[in-house]
Amino acid sequence: MSRIGKVSLVGAGPGEPELLTIRGSRLMDTADVIVHDRLIDEQLLAMAGADAVLVDVGKVPGDASSRQSDINDLLIDEARRGKNVVRLKGGDPYVFGRGGEEAEALAAAGIPFEVIPGVTSAVAAPAYAGIPLTHRDYASSFTVVTGSLARTGEGSSPDSDWATLAKTPGTLVILMGWRSLSQIAETLVEHGKPSETPSAVVSWGSEPWQKSVTGTLGSIADTAKSQGLTAPATIVVGEVVGLGRRLNWFESLPLLGRRVLVTRTRNQASALSRHLSELGAVPVEIPTIEIRPPEDFSRIDSALACAAGFDWIVFTSANAVNSVHSRLKAAGLDARALHGVRISSIGPATARAVERIGILSDLVPETATSKGLAEALSSQIGKGARVLLPRADIATRELPEMLEDLGASVTEVTAYRTAIPDESRKRAEEAIRAGVDVATFTSSSTVRNLLRLLDGGPESLSGVKVACIGPTTASTAGRLGLKVDIVPKSPTVYGLAYALVQYFDERK
Ligand code: SAH
Repeated sequence: MSRIGKVSLVGAGPGEPELLTIRGSRLMDTADVIVHDRLIDEQLLAMAGADAVLVDVGKVPGDASSRQSDINDLLIDEARRGKNVVRLKGGDPYVFGRGGEEAEALAAAGIPFEVIPGVTSAVAAPAYAGIPLTHRDYASSFTVVTGSLARTGEGSSPDSDWATLAKTPGTLVILMGWRSLSQIAETLVEHGKPSETPSAVVSWGSEPWQKSVTGTLGSIADTAKSQGLTAPATIVVGEVVGLGRRLNWFESLPLLGRRVLVTRTRNQASALSRHLSELGAVPVEIPTIEIRPPEDFSRIDSALACAAGFDWIVFTSANAVNSVHSRLKAAGLDARALHGVRISSIGPATARAVERIGILSDLVPETATSKGLAEALSSQIGKGARVLLPRADIATRELPEMLEDLGASVTEVTAYRTAIPDESRKRAEEAIRAGVDVATFTSSSTVRNLLRLLDGGPESLSGVKVACIGPTTASTAGRLGLKVDIVPKSPTVYGLAYALVQYFDERK
């Protein structure tokens, strides 16, 4: 008999992917099959292992397409076929998610299962809206109830005991209550809850498009609807809501909800995306450059074979550093082969890459541009100085010409090639269709490549703000027909993220 798989009922948390537990993320990585709800964040699903099969059993409200019994059968069948199944459920699996019923079905069928609790939206949505559920001055308990009318049908009163709840001290948290919010509020007031009780609705808690409103029990339904809130939403009723305005750390993030196109190389995108996420933005990554090895290693290899004959090696990107390192290694050498050669790095990120291979740069210009580099080198480079410049296949002649003007003899070798990744075209078009606030460019080639990806050329970015990391990238963008809106003072990804904050802040 074949091995029976195991089903893990995993709580996905309220939305923000990083609120998944470490155990949950490990299970996602190793699962054969992931059976998930409708509202699970896409980035979270992207954490699935490469071979995992994803099954969406999300119920569209009011549509009985995926019945609970079908879901139970699916979990049981997959486990019987020996698969390790993750049943990924929003929030915590045992809080109103029918996780209990799924566990019962698994137990009855003799399928091994486990439960990985998740951060429930009942707690997370208020936290992300600045509302502590308990507080020594205001509430010493909280009650979580369903506001759903499902069991009694539309039009009749919800099936929680509202008469008791109206009199229960502490904070009241209502899930699945968005559609019947006005009825719920009226019912609570009818049963004696003061209509001035502070109340809040938090929709899409913890997501960059989270929206919350506060008011009183009497006004909250109208306020929330007029502000355009949508499901999923958590309702909070109680004195603690009053703290929300002061403690609303998340909705005060400067770039909250801004969709930012990040056009970088595949392996470099994460630093900028991380900065942007920390500031509340939604980074939409379009890999426009893929770093590939040169077609032919002979030039770089022979230059490195007599590396000690150069006075300077000038690095203009971390990619060039990594390539030199890997070619040295291929020849059975390491950083010692560069002994006696002086090293210059165009900027701090390149200098860090140099440091990672065990070398401290002798020169890093204050302005991380070709011009800044040439100026800084001008006092160091004499006539006839031998300079090795390992770089991209498509690099411009600007820097070597400036160095030659200083009297140097420059050996340019192709250290790496840049190419456009195949799936990016579709992703770029989809992203722009879905709406983008600003497109970021961190090098001239990201501009050229994004425009190459978009059939419409610069027009496809009309209405999208354009941010460039530095003057060289900005002038390329300008030449290619883009109007550049944002250029940071310091050309680093951090500077770029900060410049976006300032730009949008001034336009509030
Ligand atoms: N098991 C889930 C709850 C499932 S019931 C949990 O523990 O969170 C679905 C309800 O959860 C929705 O109707 C809504 O009230 C609430 N909800 C889910 N995600 C939410 C979010 N991101 N923000 C606010 N409320 C959310």
